[in-house]
Amino acid sequence: MSSALSVLHDVFGYPQFRGPQEAIVEHVIGGGDALVLMPTGGGKSLCYQVPAIVRHAAGRGVAIVVSPLIALMHDQVGALHELGVPAAFLNSTLDWTQAEDIERRLLAGQITLLYAAPERVATPRFLGLLDTLHAHGHLSLFAIDEAHCVSQWGHDFRPEYRQLTVLHERWPGVPRIALTATADATTRADIVERLQLQDAARFVSSFDRPNIRYAIVEKKDPTRQLLQFIEREHAGEAGVVYCQSRKRVEELAQTLCEHGLDALPYHAGLPAEVRQQNQDRFLRQEGVVMCATIAFGMGIDKPDVRFVAHVDMPKNIEGYYQETGRAGRDGAPADAWMAYGLQDVVNQRRMIDESPAGEDFKQVMRGKLDALLALAEATDCRRARLLGYFGEQLNAIDSRADGLDSTLAEGQSDSYSRYSTHGCGNCDNCLRPPEVWDATDCARKLLSTIYRVQQMSGIGFGAGHLMDIVRGKPTDKVKQFGHERVSTFGLGAEFSEAQLRGVLRQLIALSAVSVDAERFNTLRLEDAARPILKGEQPVRLRATTASSPASAPRERQRKARAAAPPPAAADLDAAAQARFAALKAWRAEVAREHNLPAYVIFHDATLAAIAARAPRALHELEGISGIGATKLERYGAEVVRVCR
Ligand code: ADP
Ligand code: ZN
Repeated sequence: MSSALSVLHDVFGYPQFRGPQEAIVEHVIGGGDALVLMPTGGGKSLCYQVPAIVRHAAGRGVAIVVSPLIALMHDQVGALHELGVPAAFLNSTLDWTQAEDIERRLLAGQITLLYAAPERVATPRFLGLLDTLHAHGHLSLFAIDEAHCVSQWGHDFRPEYRQLTVLHERWPGVPRIALTATADATTRADIVERLQLQDAARFVSSFDRPNIRYAIVEKKDPTRQLLQFIEREHAGEAGVVYCQSRKRVEELAQTLCEHGLDALPYHAGLPAEVRQQNQDRFLRQEGVVMCATIAFGMGIDKPDVRFVAHVDMPKNIEGYYQETGRAGRDGAPADAWMAYGLQDVVNQRRMIDESPAGEDFKQVMRGKLDALLALAEATDCRRARLLGYFGEQLNAIDSRADGLDSTLAEGQSDSYSRYSTHGCGNCDNCLRPPEVWDATDCARKLLSTIYRVQQMSGIGFGAGHLMDIVRGKPTDKVKQFGHERVSTFGLGAEFSEAQLRGVLRQLIALSAVSVDAERFNTLRLEDAARPILKGEQPVRLRATTASSPASAPRERQRKARAAAPPPAAADLDAAAQARFAALKAWRAEVAREHNLPAYVIFHDATLAAIAARAPRALHELEGISGIGATKLERYGAEVVRVCR
């Protein structure tokens, strides 16, 4: 057996590598550089942890893990300790004597993995330390986690990451592995360039997350819709709700609490202690719903987040995919749910327009927003659209940066074409194909109203007023401006306000109409309106049903990534359920004692497998996924006792 595989078995207790993990691990153990592009939950950590352990055992010293997530380093290192792996972190939370003690242990060769923040790595003291380690042949590996932080195109840009080129320049012989879940081509190209990874082997996994169900609903009363979604499908389960603004985060957390949910706020405006405290509660307790801005989530490796909801639309598909990807890391069914409406389109457009960025940058941002709008308006498979978006980008980078393994791009388009022809069976549009109506006539009436009113009054008007004209409502404002005389007045009386709003949203999404935020959100025609006005371009829209439920109720179907998914707690018989509950209570106590999240001790799936097996002796725990040698030794007897 290879040393990598025996580490996987003995230390981690996993029977086999997942997807490209094995190839990556072997490559890095052999001293090669690697760029790893894998979706969230794909299993990136093992890709550097296994090589670090193997190389340390071979006398090559310590692996340095660069990670921007100071708030999570304690738990990451704690998880390694639970596995019996000597690890430590160096960051600003340590005092001087603690840091000095770690340096001493490092030089004594006692540490296998050292986590450090990027700003720390670039300090003269740290570089000096690495020099000493290197001089003794004790610098085994550099792992650069969340590598997209190096790029201004990623949404987590950290200038300190730019300094990491020093690692390669100063110690070119030490292998490097950079990892990210970012699927965006521009960002990837930037990572290669900024970290000088041109010669690194690239490993790209499929970005499909089959266990996540995607649904995008029309926004009516988002708070009520969200509550309904959570109560129907995820009562008592952990989830994240993304909001646009800090104010909205706080309001929503409060409202959810008033409705009996265990909800917490998280945004960059909260004091650091509160953020840390709320994050810890989310990680350590069960069933917490985190209401957050995008400041929350990077590196959160909680495996049992059952849903990610967006009550406001994100900026682009990359952000959306990364955020939703935080659901269901354990491979069990999870939901990505978004409520989307006209105001979202207007807000996002305005934020781009008003940002201080240069015009080129804005143009890129607009293009990315348009792709997301197309996803939101789509009436066909969402997953096919998502994968298609990344697939195209992959092909693009292929020809430009001349290098992504072609198999990878093929793998992507494989799943894309499979889904685009047959549907994925696990998104809202596939589960309940929406009714589509031909809105071309309605769109033309709206567009020509905008045009005529502008002609007649010399100024623009907002959506509400324009819809009143089309529907023929003689409001005071309509009379004041004499708009009953507009030739389209009342021509759209048969359309409901919801229909008109939907058409308008689509017209804005198509850039046929723009919204002037400086002038009371008045609407203006753009060039793209012309083919629609002329009847050359049809507008097809999802029919808005008055009370369409948030999503189809989940028939407890299991679409797990693994070939043989571990038994879910729900599948256990009554006696096993009782054992499972007892094991969870025991785990909670251990986690509290060790000040670690419960899943670091054992995953739910591991506990469920133990409960199903009803072990009466230690050896009966063998072969259960997630029980390595250290955990067996440390907890095996206890687990057997609890089961009895
Ligand atoms: P990422 O960092 O890519 O988001 P993680 O490294 O956190 O993903 O892994 C996601 C989950 O999958 C973790 O709970 C991890 O323990 C588990 N995992 C990773 N590799 C394997 C494997 N080969 N077999 C079983 N479980 C695995
Ligand atoms: Zn689908």
